[in-house]
Amino acid sequence: MAVKTLEDLLGEGVEGRTVLVRSDLNVPLDNGTITDPGRIIASAPTISALAEAGAKVIVMAHLGRPVHSGRSAGFAPAGDWDPALSLAPVAAKLGEVLGRNVQLAGDVVGQDALARSEGLTDGDVLLLENIRFDPRETSKDDAEREALAKALVDLVDGDGAFVSDGFGVVHRKQASVYDVAKLLPHYAGNLVAAEVEVLQKLTQDSERPYAVVLGGSKVSDKLAVIEALAPKVDTLVIGGGMYYTFLAAQGISVGNSLCQEEMIGTCKELLERYADVIHIPQDVVIADSFSADAESKTVSVLEIPDGWMGLDIGPQSVKRFAAILSGAKTVFWNGPMGVFEFPKFAAGTKGVAEAIIEATGKGAFSVVGGGDSAAAVRQLGLPEDGFSHISTGGGASLEYLEGKTLPGISALDDQTLEG
Ligand code: ADP
Ligand code: MG
Repeated sequence: MAVKTLEDLLGEGVEGRTVLVRSDLNVPLDNGTITDPGRIIASAPTISALAEAGAKVIVMAHLGRPVHSGRSAGFAPAGDWDPALSLAPVAAKLGEVLGRNVQLAGDVVGQDALARSEGLTDGDVLLLENIRFDPRETSKDDAEREALAKALVDLVDGDGAFVSDGFGVVHRKQASVYDVAKLLPHYAGNLVAAEVEVLQKLTQDSERPYAVVLGGSKVSDKLAVIEALAPKVDTLVIGGGMYYTFLAAQGISVGNSLCQEEMIGTCKELLERYADVIHIPQDVVIADSFSADAESKTVSVLEIPDGWMGLDIGPQSVKRFAAILSGAKTVFWNGPMGVFEFPKFAAGTKGVAEAIIEATGKGAFSVVGGGDSAAAVRQLGLPEDGFSHISTGGGASLEYLEGKTLPGISALDDQTLEG
């Protein structure tokens, strides 16, 4: 790959130049209050480096999924937006984190954005309103997306540049992620560059033994990654809600546990094909209802009674998984082992995470991918620096590991563009 980085751009000099930055500032909000500013904090260094070097920085970001009822193209008229999805609280928090004033434009590429961009002086930071307020951002029509990309580039005077720093969105072919890169000199920001480096380590010449731990709710979400990684790794540990479809595939009764009937055949095939690679739990913590205060007990996977559901892996399984992980030199973990949101069913996720942290302490390279897995690390009070890397983009890292081309990365790669 031939991708230029932020360092290259700073080397060329950015003083007085307008730099469009795509960041991932899609933070969880509760009634207008940011409940986890993680993505804002992670995005700050790239923005800060540009502002410090005297660039006029225009940040593009989205929040949630604005609905565009019956309108596929054109501008969303100002004011016709869900105010709950305004970036206003994000602008305030970003300013606080950067320690400098962050202006918020009242629109995406409208009058206010244009006027404010013209008024920028060196070192200023302007955040455009939620880029997805403009329906062209996510349009499937190339011409519509290109039109928005052109309007974004119109905010830039003279020799501007584009920095892609929202790793969580690089798997999306969207105007501010993909199309702008074709119109301006383009660079990978710190976050994107770091993520790509990590993912390359998980796919090329990875140190062995290589263990992958998969959990979470649905097999269907993880099927492509299982198929891509199973042939390449030494062990594939499976837990979480997706595990019960594998149990059902062995003809074992799963009670009311999560089970995807339509995936049973596929799971059966995977278990046969990768018998020496796949490891599954032998005991589980079951509950009589899906709730934090449900009645619970630990049983063998062969003994899940009717009416009960598995909400966590059991202590024997944690022990066995920990033994496997302790010898690993490369570990990729995606998906909690149980419903960690309920303290009663968090021990499996915590135990496996601690085993990965221990392996990391002994020199393993470990990566956590997936929004809920990263949230589990924080919620369970585990040290974030106990892992080599916690990915900021769950969907994007999975697609990369599945071997898919990420549009937002290939658009930065001049070899791909020329070739
Ligand atoms: P990630 O975001 O890390 O990729 P997923 O989105 O695939 O993870 O899955 C996370 C969700 O899976 C969590 O909300 C968790 O409660 C749920 N989950 C884990 N184990 C079970 C289970 N046994 N039954 C139902 N849900 C489960
Ligand atoms: Mg998730």
